[in-house]
Amino acid sequence: MREKLEEIRRRALAELADYASTDRIEEVRVRVLGRQGELTAVMRGMREVPPEQRPEIGRLVNEIKVQVEARIEVLAAAAARAALEHALTQERVDVTLPGVRSSCGRFHPLTLAGERILDILVAMGFEIVDTPDIEDDFHNFAALNFPPGHPARDMQDTFFVDAGLLLRTHTSNGQIRVLERRRPPLAVVCPGNCFRRDELTVRSSPMFSQMDVFMVDEIGRVTMAHLKGVLIEFLRAFFGPDTRVRFRASFFPFTEPSAEVDIGCLLCGGAGCRVCKQTGWTEILGSGMIHPNVLRAVGHDPESYQGFAFGLGVERMAMLKLGVDDLRLFFENDHRFLNQFPATDEGVL
Ligand SMILES: [Zn+2]
Repeated sequence: MREKLEEIRRRALAELADYASTDRIEEVRVRVLGRQGELTAVMRGMREVPPEQRPEIGRLVNEIKVQVEARIEVLAAAAARAALEHALTQERVDVTLPGVRSSCGRFHPLTLAGERILDILVAMGFEIVDTPDIEDDFHNFAALNFPPGHPARDMQDTFFVDAGLLLRTHTSNGQIRVLERRRPPLAVVCPGNCFRRDELTVRSSPMFSQMDVFMVDEIGRVTMAHLKGVLIEFLRAFFGPDTRVRFRASFFPFTEPSAEVDIGCLLCGGAGCRVCKQTGWTEILGSGMIHPNVLRAVGHDPESYQGFAFGLGVERMAMLKLGVDDLRLFFENDHRFLNQFPATDEGVL
């Protein structure tokens, strides 16, 4: 029995070497000291030991138990110290390292351009009115004098939702929404997003931002002359006081007469360059006197009222003003691009 106990002690202490892993320590603890362990087994078998040897065997069992426990305690303390040491060296904070700089957000150039345009129009007396992105055929087409077979209604151009609804293809639905509810005199700008089934290219996008601007009053109070005056004033406020403006006869279903508006090329100053195709002019927006059929569709007598309207693309205004030649840059949100357009003290371009 004595030899068996000495063998248990020798093996346990050999296994509890300085670099024993915590798993190994636990394994030895359970095997030697556990409830089903080797020392417990010896105590249970004491009945077979001759009575005169029992005190000595008992003392020896106790001695080994204390010795193994003490050894385990030493190793556990060393392991805890090592873990702490490791944490202190590996997880040390180096206060001399440079910090992670958080970048400050700023307004998108299209937001800045839109704000600037609205500031100018509000200063001229126009009121901002929000109108729906999701429209029905009446407000987007029929009331704006688009005949039933007009190509703009085609599946190729319009996103149809369901139940006769569609994503508006222009902000001119704003004219109908406002005029069917309110009596002139009115001077309103309806800003918002528009949607067409176009690819995203240098010049086009399936989603773009427009503003529909219109003024309606009793007949004779809002004429083509007012339209020209407002547009020249507006375009010079946005592009600069020396901006040249010209009007070209054109056609839109919802205006009569209609005019395309050009500004003198900002790049070459009128001398002719690649951007203006050597003409010295760039097309900027469409305008005209509101068609009598549009006024009729919303219950206003065209014998009593008249008005003008113009529609502009915010992206196009921003591209010309900022000298951006690829529409896609506005939607890629590359910081290297966006950071070139800081807001000024006035908060605008
Ligand atoms: Zn040019």
